[in-house]
Amino acid sequence: MVEFTNLKTWNQERKDFITSDLNFSINENTTGISKKEIDGSNFVCLPIGVDIHVHFREPGYTHKEDMKTGVEAALHGGISAVLDMPNTNPVTDSVDQILFKKKTGERYDYVDILIAAAITDGNYQNLKQIDEHCDAYKVFLSESFGDLAVKEENVEGALNQLEQIESSKPIIFHAEDSLILKSKADEKEHAKQRPPEAEAVAIQSILRWAHDYPSLRFHITHVSSALSLKLLEIATLDNLSTDTCPRYLFFDQTSDLSPSFMKVNPPLRSTNDRNQLIEALSKGVIDMISSDHSPHTIEEKEKSNPSGMPGVQELIPSLITLVQANEIEWERAIEAFHVFPSKLLKIEQNDVTENCMIVDLSTPFEVDKNWIKSKSQWSPFEGRMLNGQIKYVIKSGEIILVS
Ligand SMILES: [Zn+2]
Repeated sequence: MVEFTNLKTWNQERKDFITSDLNFSINENTTGISKKEIDGSNFVCLPIGVDIHVHFREPGYTHKEDMKTGVEAALHGGISAVLDMPNTNPVTDSVDQILFKKKTGERYDYVDILIAAAITDGNYQNLKQIDEHCDAYKVFLSESFGDLAVKEENVEGALNQLEQIESSKPIIFHAEDSLILKSKADEKEHAKQRPPEAEAVAIQSILRWAHDYPSLRFHITHVSSALSLKLLEIATLDNLSTDTCPRYLFFDQTSDLSPSFMKVNPPLRSTNDRNQLIEALSKGVIDMISSDHSPHTIEEKEKSNPSGMPGVQELIPSLITLVQANEIEWERAIEAFHVFPSKLLKIEQNDVTENCMIVDLSTPFEVDKNWIKSKSQWSPFEGRMLNGQIKYVIKSGEIILVS
């Protein structure tokens, strides 16, 4: 056993920290730790993270990432469950593909890989069997990496069927309207090809669907613009939630990132958008955060420049950095990376002393190649200081990671 003394531990009922001494079991052989007592006074003990939007790229694009390296990055970022997206090759749009991914994911003990099935123009009428096996659905309302855009009338066909079979699986939407994107295809800059209006128009459709299908569970991922917040501020739907990603909270079009490495869908926006998103997250207009961890290799980004950036490992340290900068309260941060994502994916929330992470708040660290575990070996945060180094990860009362 290892004892952490004077450890500030998050108490979800009191919504505050309580200082206590905590004991965890440890496998000395795998962790290389032999100390019996660790001074915890510079650390906090937080609930473990859940990331509802990752692309671990397996099968089909395992030169960018695979489940093994994705799990490694997630674990070092304090995340013990992820929802993997379906735009792999083959696409996850059938029972066989869901089972293949689940079986592959079972090899990795410490991070649960939940599987999102794509709703496509090909499968929208045949979701009954898929519903028994998937953990969530993903709907792309426009093309992005691995073209899976689905026609709006077919989304409605899918919703009719999901309502009929009484599906309880969350339906996660990539909200960019394909008609607006088509009308902007001649624009030179990526950000102008995919303007905020495209997101807002798609969100209007999703709000209407959430209203029309009250028994289904809707979620809008990676909200990126202030225009969208205007719609979300006035929406009062119990069956709808939203997330944004750290990239929209830390970077904008004025950031010092090379154009190829900042390319992502939806694009980075203005400084005003960025500030308003931070405020929306802190007030709870946006419920939670996800990483949209979408790695490509450095060579690919430099040559053909597909959209996407890694982020699963940076998710929680970046949010803690905002807490330490007094932009967001601890209570909201913990809702955003643990409470609400767990509820969305129906993950049981155990006592914090069972599954948790111990985080060093006293020593900011630089994101560098040494720290990055993703196979893609880069990060938009590279060269930046973050606050919230994850030192230990505990699962079922046992320390499983020391870093
Ligand atoms: Zn994504």
